[in-house]
Amino acid sequence: MLLSLIVPCYDEEEALPLFYKECTAVAEGMDCEYELLLVNDGSRDGTLSVMKDLAEKDSHVVYLSLSRNFGKEAAMYAGFCNARGDYVAVMDADMQDPPSLLPGMLEKLRTGEYDCVAARRVSRAGEPPVRSWFARRFYKLINHFSDTEVVDGARDFRLMKREMVDAIVSMSEYNRFSKGLFSWVGFRTFWIPYENVERVAGKTKWSFWGLTKYALDGIINFSQAPLSFVSVFGFIMTVFAFLMLAFVVIRKLIFGDPVAGWASTMSVIIFVGGLQLFCLGIIGQYLAKTYLEAKHRPHFIIAETNGDGVTKIK
Ligand code: UDP
Ligand code: MG
Repeated sequence: MLLSLIVPCYDEEEALPLFYKECTAVAEGMDCEYELLLVNDGSRDGTLSVMKDLAEKDSHVVYLSLSRNFGKEAAMYAGFCNARGDYVAVMDADMQDPPSLLPGMLEKLRTGEYDCVAARRVSRAGEPPVRSWFARRFYKLINHFSDTEVVDGARDFRLMKREMVDAIVSMSEYNRFSKGLFSWVGFRTFWIPYENVERVAGKTKWSFWGLTKYALDGIINFSQAPLSFVSVFGFIMTVFAFLMLAFVVIRKLIFGDPVAGWASTMSVIIFVGGLQLFCLGIIGQYLAKTYLEAKHRPHFIIAETNGDGVTKIK
């Protein structure tokens, strides 16, 4: 039985050695074979050479070095496509996903009751309060609009059975929002709650703007609600405009009032114009996603690796 641990790394030269040490200690104590798949996501620092050093010393280490920064989603996908394990886990390199949880997760899977064991933060201690607030709103919003459940506080840290990994690999969409994909494929998931841990070294790659974009992507990828909203809204506006027109015409016929008020007319025109652009923008977002999907570009390109039989482009 083989356990694959996938670790996406982007500029993690400081954190990676610490992670390796702790993770190896935990993995050695588990009664199964393991492989450590380190995915270098186009790091600009010495991450790749750290990986090479580790691979030289330790045959459990397989590194996959992408040709540029493709983003964490693509890095994870590269890992999934190349993991050979019967059990596969994804973990961050910064120790925010504590390796010490692994043995418990594996035990839970082995009972056969579940196909996946995932970690869920029950606190957001150490995170800026504004970010936590927006994160909570995001989970409320996406769960309201989307049929796919996205669990608040869920990280990408999870241990899965082969069947589930195959299902994830088969979802080859270009716009990947893993939190949604994991949930979409189904299977029985057990949630392990744990307290938030801050990263050991280096800094987070997520800016507030980056997270906002990621959140909007998540909503667009897993819900058609904004499109329905736009069409319903358009319909209501049309009915309203028609009633207004009838009112004005009838008033003219009965009372012969000339209509005054250039300013009010202008503001209505500008308001409606703005709304139209906003709605067009929403449609444009979906169109842009469709455009990207239609190009069928690869998700990742592996430039360098020490593994054999590695899928280099997919
Ligand atoms: N990561 C990556 N590619 C990226 C950004 C991040 O592979 O473009 C990796 C990063 O090295 C880390 C994990 O994804 O192992 C989570 O990143 P980070 O800790 O910055 O995110 P946070 O934990 O703050 O959500
Ligand atoms: Mg982190």
